[in-house]
Amino acid sequence: MNVNVEEKLFQNRYKVDHGRPHISIVDPSVCASECRTQQCTRVCPASCYKAEGNGNVSLITDGCLECGSCRIICDDFRNVEWEYPRGGYGILFKFG
Ligand code: SF4
Ligand code: SF4
Repeated sequence: MNVNVEEKLFQNRYKVDHGRPHISIVDPSVCASECRTQQCTRVCPASCYKAEGNGNVSLITDGCLECGSCRIICDDFRNVEWEYPRGGYGILFKFG
């Protein structure tokens, strides 16, 4: 049976640590005024980053897979503050 990526991701569960996002954008004005490519909005496999259409980028970490891609892709600006969620929170991978 073929299973696509979306179906695979659906098998994971995410426990939200309300009010304590483990990733944040350091300076949103850098996203809006300096970062022309806004690659985080394309590289994130969980679509946590969204280009708002007015130049701003929003980040909602619910569903984050902790892959680290956003931190790496933002290396030019170092505008992503990234740490793992507290123990017991975040992505709960289910392999199946
Ligand atoms: S790559 Fe970095 S600077 Fe660019 S939009 Fe994303 S968070 Fe902002
Ligand atoms: S760590 Fe990966 S899944 Fe989480 S926000 Fe960054 S790119 Fe998206």
